[in-house]
Amino acid sequence: MKKESLDIKMTAGGSFEGYEITEYLDFVSGQIALASGFLANIAEMTTQESNTFTSKLQSASDTALEILMKNALALKADGIIGVALTYSDFSGSSIGAVASGTAVKLKKIQKKEAITNELFVSNYYTRLLPRPVRIRLLAIDGKVKIAGDFYNYNLEEIKAIRADVELENFYGEKMLLSGIDFTFEKNNISMLESFYVECDLDEKYVGMTCDAKVYLQKYVTSKDVFACTDNPINVSMSLQSLKALKKNRGIDAFERYHSDGSTWTCNCGHINGAGAEECAICQRKESDLASNRSFNYDEMLEKMKTMINVTGMKDVLMQYIKQIDPGIRMELLEIMESGLQYERTRGDMTSSVYDKVLRVFETN
Ligand SMILES: [Zn+2]
Repeated sequence: MKKESLDIKMTAGGSFEGYEITEYLDFVSGQIALASGFLANIAEMTTQESNTFTSKLQSASDTALEILMKNALALKADGIIGVALTYSDFSGSSIGAVASGTAVKLKKIQKKEAITNELFVSNYYTRLLPRPVRIRLLAIDGKVKIAGDFYNYNLEEIKAIRADVELENFYGEKMLLSGIDFTFEKNNISMLESFYVECDLDEKYVGMTCDAKVYLQKYVTSKDVFACTDNPINVSMSLQSLKALKKNRGIDAFERYHSDGSTWTCNCGHINGAGAEECAICQRKESDLASNRSFNYDEMLEKMKTMINVTGMKDVLMQYIKQIDPGIRMELLEIMESGLQYERTRGDMTSSVYDKVLRVFETN
């Protein structure tokens, strides 16, 4: 029951979303009686008479609420809480509608804008562990909260994960949050999304943070507590390339697929033997990873990496250009041209050009 005519708020509940009650004024009511003789014989009413009766009750309750609102406004109230509407037997054959509630003064709550930030985790474990993939930060009302998302490859019933989280801001400054306890609402699904938990981070850093690394300490399943002393591996690509990779290959992707004949590296980062058809960790099939791409650009990228200037990188590109999808050739050539131009004035541009080239392949 909510009504907002007559410039007063009403609710059957005890509060209004977005408002705080500053004063409880008084109990208020409004009542109206229907004409006597109305209830002569309900059982023998025709449909027509019954409809008339219902609409009369409706209009009586509207009137009772209107009186209630006017009475509350007379007290200079802004709202009425706990509004109840009842029909009461006034005397013998007459019935009435009674509306009641508590008149209150209200003040609008000034909400501070929340600041949020989502970061892809840039290190990973090669063993089958709950895999940290994303960190979420939230600053609200002067407090900073953190949540973590974990890939749960074998659908274990994971109840809690304790980890250190290392954050890095745009200036390369690192902040370590030790022993964060992540807990989960649902715990035997492939993607575990933790609740937010308060952490010791300055509000101003939330929007400035650009990288997160997670170091697992222990985790709890329905069976036992497991410790983790492994050293995770840092991803080898730039954060922008990582983002592109994840967009294409899934949020648990940490490395580009590549094969050297005796082993192949899965998108999840695990190195599998050449004989393995699917990855031991994430079960991606090698045939899917390899066939996903018309041109295996790893070899070309490896060669580009060894070049000391953009001129050399462009030469490498030209060796492969005929094998590359015509749709992205122009884009790659433009990257080289602008790289060459900048190189004249700014010096070494090779890593920036490499990242741009990688992104073209990862997003196409
Ligand atoms: Zn894998």
